[in-house]
Amino acid sequence: MSVVVVGSVNADLVTRVTAHPAPGQTVAGQSMAVLAGGKGANQAVAAARLGARVAFVGAVGDDEFADVATSTLRTSGIDLSGLRVVAGPTGLALITVSADGENTIVVVPGANAAVDDAAVAANAAAIASADVVLLQGEIPTSGVEAAARAAAARVVLNLAPVVDLDPDVLRLADPLVVNEHEARGALALLGAPPDAGDLQDVAAALVRAGVRSVVVTLGAVGALVATPCATAQAGPPDVVAIPAPRVSALDTTGAGDAFVGALVQRLAAGVGLVDAARFAARVGAYAVTGAGAQASYPDAATPLPAVG
Ligand code: ADP
Repeated sequence: MSVVVVGSVNADLVTRVTAHPAPGQTVAGQSMAVLAGGKGANQAVAAARLGARVAFVGAVGDDEFADVATSTLRTSGIDLSGLRVVAGPTGLALITVSADGENTIVVVPGANAAVDDAAVAANAAAIASADVVLLQGEIPTSGVEAAARAAAARVVLNLAPVVDLDPDVLRLADPLVVNEHEARGALALLGAPPDAGDLQDVAAALVRAGVRSVVVTLGAVGALVATPCATAQAGPPDVVAIPAPRVSALDTTGAGDAFVGALVQRLAAGVGLVDAARFAARVGAYAVTGAGAQASYPDAATPLPAVG
């Protein structure tokens, strides 16, 4: 069962500082690391490390950052025949982490801006033959929309960040994966009235607005899975709470991407959505116990934390 990820790949330039500089101020950095990142690449690596057959459609620039950005994609056995090299910079994230754990992040899309509808058309056969097509919001909306429409089987859409997608494309998602903030953004895109209720209500409202299924991630709390009512067509959506294992968090960078990659690996293997989300919550929890994003992802043999 195969997964095609159409998404972003970045080099993350991570510096640690005592305190963030104010505008006009210069501060000394305590460390500097250049790491592989980008939501598309992170999720592709997470799924592949857990055993999925993954192909990646994306783009890097013709600069020195392309190599590090794709380093883990290459060592994770991912098919990179859909990865293009375009003129200009590779996608970059300039990340500054202060001693109190607050981040500032500047993202330069660079080559990710080339992953548009034309790039999707060039990979249409691979996308149409995938069991799961996995998308995020870090490439042009024309690319996300074209890939969702080119998919012949399941589309998983992680609307991160929230981008202005055609509501009919959002409705193709099965599931739409969002965090708390993105869930409310998705509701606005669907033209649904803002839901002042709790996140269970928001998840249910997304299903009522026509999304096939919804997963809302809730950090240390876990996640919610919302699907149309199984017993009565007009009944309220079913919402299931998925607990996360208790762990001591070291670095939450890329936990959401670990969750999505793991979810998709299980869905591609034929597992149902609720069980796939239970597994993904354990993988997300594992990922926060290690430093970095891709470096903190487990493989199929890694013992994962359990709930309770
Ligand atoms: P995002 O980073 O996209 O906002 P979340 O913070 O919701 O995503 O994290 C995604 C998933 O990772 C959660 O649903 C949960 O399963 C797991 N996770 C994140 N933070 C923790 C934590 N502190 N303890 C346990 N699990 C966590």
